[in-house]
Amino acid sequence: MSDRESATIWIEELDPPYVRMGFTSYPWQNSHRIAQRANALARNYSKGWYCAYCGELMPEWKRLDAKFCKEGCRKMAARKRRTRSRV
Ligand SMILES: [Zn+2]
Repeated sequence: MSDRESATIWIEELDPPYVRMGFTSYPWQNSHRIAQRANALARNYSKGWYCAYCGELMPEWKRLDAKFCKEGCRKMAARKRRTRSRV
């Protein structure tokens, strides 16, 4: 049993580039809005939504136009672009 109040969208990675996703919502929530976000996420994942730095599957809670899975990746990618340092 869970008493979480927020709707959840979940992603399960299958054989890349395939993912399985679903979402749950509750009657008192605006399920249309959640469904819209789920659809937008599905569009992203169907195109292959991976971190531009580490190549990990993007977490489902990221902004739809995010390019990096976490702040660290964004910073590292920026640093890499600036200096060609040793590996
Ligand atoms: Zn990353």
